[in-house]
Amino acid sequence: MRVVVLGAGVIGVTSAYELARDGHQVTVIDKREGVALETSLANGGQLSAHHGEPLAQPGVLKLALGWLGKHDAPLLYRLRLDPALWSWTLKFLSNASEPKFWENAARMLRIALYSRERLHETLARETIAFDHLKTGILNLHRDPRDFDMSLEHVRAMKELGSERRILDRKGCIDIEPALAHSTVLFAGGIYTPNDESGDCHAFTKQLAERCVKRNVDFKFKTAVKGFDVDGWKIKSVITDRGRIEGDVFVMALGSYSPQLLESLDLKLPIYPAKGYSVTVPVLNDAMAPRTSLTSHAHKLVISRLGNKLRIAGMLEFNGYDTHMDTARARVVLDATLKLFPRAVEPGHAEFWTGLRPLTPDGAPVLGRGKQENMVLNTGHGMLGWTMAMGSARVTADLVAGRAPDIDLDGLTWERFT
Ligand SMILES: Cc1cc2nc3c(=O)[nH]c(=O)nc-3n(C[C@H](O)[C@H](O)[C@H](O)COP(=O)(O)OP(=O)(O)OC[C@H]3O[C@@H](n4cnc5c(N)ncnc54)[C@H](O)[C@@H]3O)c2cc1C
Repeated sequence: MRVVVLGAGVIGVTSAYELARDGHQVTVIDKREGVALETSLANGGQLSAHHGEPLAQPGVLKLALGWLGKHDAPLLYRLRLDPALWSWTLKFLSNASEPKFWENAARMLRIALYSRERLHETLARETIAFDHLKTGILNLHRDPRDFDMSLEHVRAMKELGSERRILDRKGCIDIEPALAHSTVLFAGGIYTPNDESGDCHAFTKQLAERCVKRNVDFKFKTAVKGFDVDGWKIKSVITDRGRIEGDVFVMALGSYSPQLLESLDLKLPIYPAKGYSVTVPVLNDAMAPRTSLTSHAHKLVISRLGNKLRIAGMLEFNGYDTHMDTARARVVLDATLKLFPRAVEPGHAEFWTGLRPLTPDGAPVLGRGKQENMVLNTGHGMLGWTMAMGSARVTADLVAGRAPDIDLDGLTWERFT
């Protein structure tokens, strides 16, 4: 079949790879000049399958209100005349109840753990250098009260299949010796030994090369503008370089998916949630962490990518704005310098922003669209790198008319109707 994949981020490229493996004739379209140049470029690097948890959770409103007006807060919500943001926010808050949280966490874990399996299966077939580390992820807690309160949460997450260990301060240092030099006091940590980290951009770029070997045609600098629809079937995609026909179309435009889907009569609540990352060269190997970390207090993730550290975080709701607010980027860097003094070379820091395609319940949108030949693979929010390989296999199975390995209940667009 002729399959046209819209978008060459990690989601589009992994989809193209699985589709090409199934023997389809695949074309990938992207407005940029190469693969993974938008949100998949410099993310936090965590392959955090065991952290499949939505942001919408009990207490989130209180936390967000406490951060209002603070320029260095992990979450910044800019009040603007934007009906899409208001409607998204209402949906987000309606997902923050205890029962909804657990329902959404179970759905996210289902696709995240499946993706982990599929990533390993891919890596057994392809040799890809992406600074892959399988040393787990350690979630550090500063506040002892907050840490104690999270213990019940750990028990419940374990019941859903997320493997987690509770560690005291010494246990954390045993896992990550560089923490012994930290100037930040922390009470303990929650360790997910089966989580991993790696460079999403390097992985996507090399997987795209494998795609080319399988005759995938990448059309770069080509912007998708709309579709030619005949009844309930899409005939072709309209681009600024002409029409491209196909038998099946895969929507993988990340944060830009909703606009294009609206022209196909499908309103999806995916909102761009801006984040920042800082990439800094490691100065002193013994002082810099190798285990991927999450700082619960700062809401930051830290991954070791070869001889660099990547630190990512911040959540800003301000439409499609990607401008670099250097003061906020500096907050990310300063938190790292406190956690790991003298570990990195701050003078050579590279700053970046990206837009997470976030759904109100945290789970991606997979499955068929409203038209029979549109397959959705979008809305991966905070965990697109983690969920990519499983989402790609689900997409390829649907294109082939096969039942996916995992149940798609709660992962399709119908949940928003
Ligand atoms: C600060 C930050 C930290 C993160 N950390 C992690 C992490 O540690 N672990 C994790 O799992 N996830 C993380 N994420 C999330 C992850 O990066 C995203 O979920 C993922 O990159 C989304 O991939 P995507 O392919 O859907 O979107 P994108 O990578 O944005 O790809 C979409 C593509 O569509 C193209 N496009 C858009 N509109 C058009 C158009 N009209 N025509 C043609 N092409 C178009 C774009 O050019 C782009 O290439 C993080 C994100 C951020 C911002």
